[in-house]
Formats: sequence, C-alpha cells, structure tokens
Amino acid sequence: MKNLAKNIFIILIIFLAISLIFSLFSGQSQELKGVTLTGLVQQINEEQVSKIVIKGQDVNITLRDGTFEKTTKEDAAPLSTTLKDLGADPSKIQAVPIEVSQESVLSYWLINLLPFLLPLIFIGLFLWFMLRQAQRGANQAFGFTRSLVRMLSPQDKKNQRTTFKDVAGLQEAKDELKEVVEFLKQPEKFKAVGARIPKGVLLVGPPGTGKTLLARAVSGEANVPFFHISGSEFVELFVGVGASRVRDTFAQAKKTAPAILFVDELDAIGRHRGAGLGGGHDEREQTLNQILVEMDGFEPDTRVIVISATNRPDILDPALLRPGRFDRRIILDLPDINDREQILKIHAKGKPLAKKIDLRQIAERTPGFSGADLSNLMNEAAIFAARRNKKEVSMEELIPSVEKVLLGPERKSHILSDKEKKIAAWHEAGHALVNASLPHTDPVRKVSIIARGRAAGYTLKLPTQDRHLTSKTEFVEELAVLMGGYATEKLVFGEMTTGSSNDLEQATDLARKLVTRFGMSDKLGPRTFGEQEELIFLGKEIVTEKDYSEKIAAQIDEEVTKFITDAQKTAQNIVTEKRALLDRIAERLIEKETIEKEEFEKIMAGEA
Ligand code: ADP
Ligand code: MG
Ligand code: ZN
Repeated sequence: MKNLAKNIFIILIIFLAISLIFSLFSGQSQELKGVTLTGLVQQINEEQVSKIVIKGQDVNITLRDGTFEKTTKEDAAPLSTTLKDLGADPSKIQAVPIEVSQESVLSYWLINLLPFLLPLIFIGLFLWFMLRQAQRGANQAFGFTRSLVRMLSPQDKKNQRTTFKDVAGLQEAKDELKEVVEFLKQPEKFKAVGARIPKGVLLVGPPGTGKTLLARAVSGEANVPFFHISGSEFVELFVGVGASRVRDTFAQAKKTAPAILFVDELDAIGRHRGAGLGGGHDEREQTLNQILVEMDGFEPDTRVIVISATNRPDILDPALLRPGRFDRRIILDLPDINDREQILKIHAKGKPLAKKIDLRQIAERTPGFSGADLSNLMNEAAIFAARRNKKEVSMEELIPSVEKVLLGPERKSHILSDKEKKIAAWHEAGHALVNASLPHTDPVRKVSIIARGRAAGYTLKLPTQDRHLTSKTEFVEELAVLMGGYATEKLVFGEMTTGSSNDLEQATDLARKLVTRFGMSDKLGPRTFGEQEELIFLGKEIVTEKDYSEKIAAQIDEEVTKFITDAQKTAQNIVTEKRALLDRIAERLIEKETIEKEEFEKIMAGEA
C-alpha cells in the first residue's frame, strides 16, 4: 500500500513537470510578435527582413535586427504571390531568402494532438503501474505454495563437499548410512537380490550431535544432489500450504533423482496427529499426511532417500515410523572422550596450533559437550588468540574457552559490594566443601565468585569419566552439594539470601525426579508417577497427567521434602564440622576471586 502511494506520487510529479515544460514551450511561441501581411510587405519594402521560413500556414520572419515575428498566410497561394498582390517590390522579395520547411504530416498531427493525447498517455501509464503492482502481489500469494527447498548440487564447486571424513566418531551411524550411499550408487546390486531399499532414515539425537552434518556427508559420499528443508518451513499460517509445499519438494527431488531429501526438525510437523485441541484437521496434520502419501507413492526404483532428523523421537507420530517410511532409526549419542578428541582435531584444521597443545586434555575436560559445543570451543579459542595478537592457538586459550562455552562469558563488570562478595564467597565455599567431603561426587575443578552468565558465582566440577548411569547415592550426594550454599549462609550469616533460589529450584527438581521418575523413594517404591504428555494448544506446554490419587500426591510431596531436608542436614553437618576449612576457602576466594583445582586440593589437604 505504501509502495502504491509512492508510485502515484511520482507519477503526479512527472506529470506536473512535463506539463510545465510543455506550457513553457507553447508559451514561447505565443510570445512571438504577430504581424499582419500588410505589415510584412512594408517591412520587406523597407529591407528590414533577413529571412522567411514557411511552415504550412505559419510564416516565421527573422528581421535584420535579430527579432522574430510571425504571421499566417492563405493556404493555397504561394507567399511571394500574395506579397506581390499586396504591393511588395518584386526585386526586394527576391532579395529575401524564403525557406519552405515541409512540415511532415506526423509532426503536424503530433503537435496538434499532443495536448489531448498526453493526459491519456499518463492515465494509461498510471493504470499499467497499478495493474503491475497488483499482479506482483498476486504472484507472491501464489508463490507461497512453492517449497523453500534448497539444493546443494555435487557439481557446484562453491560449496565444500562434506564427506564421512568430516564427521568424527558416530561409527555405527556411519556404517548404517554407508548402505544408503551404496544404494544410491548401485541400486541394481540390491534389486538383484530382491532387497527392499529403505525409503526413509531417521536420525535421532540431542541438538548439536551432527545430524545435519551426517546427512550432508551422505550426499557428499554418494555424490548426489542434497535437498535441504526444515520441518518448520512447512508450517504456515494458511491451511493447505504445508501440504502443497511437501508435494512440490518431493517433485523437485524426484526430478533430479538420485537425490537425498533432508527434512530437518521433523518433530515440527511429525507430532502425534490429533493431539491439537479443537478439531482434528489442523495444518500440521495435513502436512504430515502429505509426507506419508509421498513416501508411500515412491516407485520401487525411485532413487530418492528421505533422511530426517529429530531430537524428540518420543513425540513423533507412530505412522511415520512404520515399515516403508522412516523405518531406519539411527541414534546419535553425545561423543565420548575419543570422539571428542577427534572432533576437536577436525575443527582444529585451518587453525594454527601451538606445538605443545594437548587436545586429549581438552577432551577429558569436556564430558557432556556435543559436537557443536566442541566446534564452538575451538572457535572461541581462535578468537581469544586473535584478540591477544597471537599467531597460534595454545592451551592458554583452549582451557578458558571450555569454561566460556560451559558457563557463558565472564561478567567482570558485575561488581559485588563488599557484603555481597562475602556472602558469595561463603556460599560457593559451602558448595565446594560439601562436594569435596562426599566420596561419590565429581572433583572440583574451579571455584569462583566472578559472575558468569546468570550465575553470581560458581563451583565447577567435571566428571573424570563419561557417565551413562547414575546411582541413588550419587544423586543424594548431588542434592547435598546443591544445598551446601544454603546451609552455609544459614550457618555463617544466620539467614538466607536470594542467591540460593536457583540451587533450591534445581534441588527440588532433582528430588522430584528421584521420586516420580527413577523409583528411588523407598516409601513409594519402584514405579513412575504421572504420564508426561505434550499438549499442543496455542504453543507448547508440557502437562503431566495425573495417574495417581490425591493420597499418593501428598506422599510424593512428603518424599520430595524429605530428600531435600536430608540433603540439607548432610550439608549442614559438613560445614559445621569443617568450619575452619570453610572459612579458609572463603577467605581465599575473597582475596583471589577464583581458586583452581590444584590450590583447592591443597587447602583441603590443609597445606596452604
Ligand atoms: P544437529 O543437526 O544434530 O543439531 P549439526 O549437524 O548441525 O547438529 O552440528 C553442528 C556442528 O557441530 C556441525 O556443523 C559440526 O561443525 C559440529 N559437529 C557435530 N558433530 C560432529 C562430529 N561428529 N564431527 C565433527 N563435527 C561435528
Ligand atoms: Mg540440525
Ligand atoms: Zn549456589
């Protein structure tokens, strides 16, 4: 609308300008002094005329003194005859050059018609503009249904080809996908033995574990075009758009078969159908149905393989997982220590590393990091090195980068008052001391009262090993560590601050899980409580459906409270008993703000 108004404005301006010029020119011709034919005869006899130009009926006269005049003559008779008839001296007429400029018919008509035509032309132009505008709008509206699929062609030299070499670890996943690659390359081999080829492969794993990367690597290995679209791009405001986009996407992929069609974030469309409230036929459902229809409609020799990725396999519609659809499921886990080292190596490429660098040590310090975190870590280290004007990346940059990725950037500007600093120091010392005093916890790597991300201070502990199972004892000790800050504040200052609220939240959450999810409460026994279900109604919301009585609900609350109060007692006993150590850690924190692992261990051993 704004555009249209602007165009109209511009047209009006042009119109005004042209009519102004036009009137100027025509005005000039009117300004010429008119003279009668008799007057002209007189001027000729007085030898004042230097030149006469005849244009049709118009006679333009140039006088010797440089002025111009005009007059009109009869149409039929030649000017010289008329002049003679009016008494001009024939010899004087001969002395004046008379030019007859043949006015072309076209210009005659143009000059006569232009004043009428011009407005018409402008109105026409204006209409054309309006129409074009409207058309463009209409095109945009219809273009909606076209898919937003992006294609990476293997011929395109610009995009770097991704292969399995660029993917560290994930050996099982690669093995499975090699089959897909082979099929894309030599389908005959499989058909000869009557094997049914997978149509869809579903990659399942937490964010950043390399799902997208792996899908690209498959297309790179097979050397086929790679179509990439995200599930959320199918979902639109208008019902039916998603479905036609699916149709369009599949049609494009089939045209260039063999090809890989990668649908990222499948969970955005592939949720349980009918989960939405109020009428079953929502947009998502139609889109999902269309995907199923397309996948079922593949001819046996359609060489299009659909690879899809999700981190929420639990909420996918079971129909998607039926044989003949996404029947291959490949689970991607977070990388273990060896994989982490490999991933670091891959991302160290192109970054000059110092000789003494030990990526193994970084891998040891980063359990729970995803591939994306590790790639981020290497990048942070490189940025850090550049900011220090160094030519290569060394351990001095890598180690702080681990913490930066883990906790967010340091907020050195977040200044604590002396009193706040004191509270933070004892609070963190409490966490650290309880942690170090319990046998099944992960060792403390660092204690700090420098604000970081959202935390005012932190006690960083990292597991020495990758862990897949956690025992009840470990959870209970973890709870005690979480309560360490709270217990210390109560002991030392006699009251609590808001600084513990995050600890309490985490502790309550964990305790509830122990009771309702892990069956770790002796009183309630080995069962889970409440079915978690995602309800899709104007956005996302997780509701826990209650499948137990009010009586049980009260018992759950009791058990949760018991876990937490027990943990608090444990913490309180430790900090009360080891008050001297607690004070020493806190004082050192106030002095240095950060204590590293070695120093902390020394204090604990009573050396410092
Ligand atoms: P996802 O799709 O699972 O969320 P991505 O495939 O987008 O994760 O991974 C993000 C980035 O993390 C990749 O671009 C890559 O740089 C890095 N990455 C993740 N996993 C690996 C891996 N196994 N090997 C090498 N790099 C990895
Ligand atoms: Mg991804
Ligand atoms: Zn705390």
